[in-house]
Amino acid sequence: MSYPIQVRNKELSLSVSIGISTNVLCEDIEFNSKLIETLISQADTAMYHAKKQGGNTFCFNTPDQNFEIERHYQLEQELKGALERNEFSIVYQPLVNLGNKNIVAVEALLRWHNKELGTVSPFEFIPLLEEIGLIIPVGKYVLRSACAQMKNWQEAGVFLERVAVNVSPIQFKNPHFVKDLQDILEETQLEAAYLELEVTEGTILNIKDSFKTLLALQNLGVKVSIDDFGTGYSSLSYLKQLPIDTLKIDKSFISDLDADGKIIVNTIINMGKNLKFKVIAEGIELEEQLKYLKQQKCNEGQGYFFSKPVSGNMITDLYIQYNGIEQHVLK
Ligand code: C2E
Ligand code: MG
Ligand code: MG
Repeated sequence: MSYPIQVRNKELSLSVSIGISTNVLCEDIEFNSKLIETLISQADTAMYHAKKQGGNTFCFNTPDQNFEIERHYQLEQELKGALERNEFSIVYQPLVNLGNKNIVAVEALLRWHNKELGTVSPFEFIPLLEEIGLIIPVGKYVLRSACAQMKNWQEAGVFLERVAVNVSPIQFKNPHFVKDLQDILEETQLEAAYLELEVTEGTILNIKDSFKTLLALQNLGVKVSIDDFGTGYSSLSYLKQLPIDTLKIDKSFISDLDADGKIIVNTIINMGKNLKFKVIAEGIELEEQLKYLKQQKCNEGQGYFFSKPVSGNMITDLYIQYNGIEQHVLK
């Protein structure tokens, strides 16, 4: 197969990925036919892994691979009815102004608790929601809940500058996205300026009409922030033209603040500020990280050092504590 093949005067070079599964056949014909079916499906699983390793190689089937496939299937089945069964909820993590230590914003983070599977991490279920198309209705649920929660806080006297909501590339490229968002803002009566959308560099770089969507969001008055900044490939010249408000430095840089790490973080802070973006550091866990970021004049911070993500009600308590608000001022 390593030789090119001629097809209608064109030379095609192919590569081969092979999946292998082995077992011992026995006397029982019926048993064997079932076993062969299983073998073929396990060989297929192994081939999928060979391809995932870059292809042009072979891979033996392992119990781990089978577990992965079964878990994938089970999660998919359970996710399909999760919204209707009210299995999703939202927690909020404070974003703190590093100058005065006030809570100025929160990030809404989706949680999924299922009876069979327990609590599943967003890192595991969000890609699946994207794969089966459910990220659109679930994403709307997150937006609606976060906007309604923000409105409730405002009515209770908890004044935050923004509630940030993560948006997946699938939502961002949906042609109805901006209109749906407008409807949600109307329905919840939240002013657009209080909502910030978090998108990754990849979302902006890989989606054809992303610039148009960003402009439409800017017109609507919604803020946009680039999440996990530093892990993608956006160039300076590109970044400069983008209608965005905030850069969130990825937590991998904050957890790695050795000499080189400091240079990277400094560069991002200075570049972001020169381009007039607000700069936020994610994943602050230690006092010395906070101290360093404050020294470098990073605007805001988020991380376990301040608080883990908590329920909407607990945000009110943290707000009282951090912002030095008297309890009786709140309604
Ligand atoms: P993200 O948007 O970058 O969110 C930050 C993640 O870092 C959250 O994980 C948060 O709990 C975690 N984190 C915050 N502070 C610290 C810290 O000090 N140390 C460490 N080790 N971690 C910290 P979480 O909630 O598990 O969410 C993971 C990712 O899932 C999010 O990363 C985001 O990409 C995605 N996600 C969560 N909710 C949504 C959602 O509603 N929609 C979409 N599309 N994606 C979401
Ligand atoms: Mg985020
Ligand atoms: Mg992030």
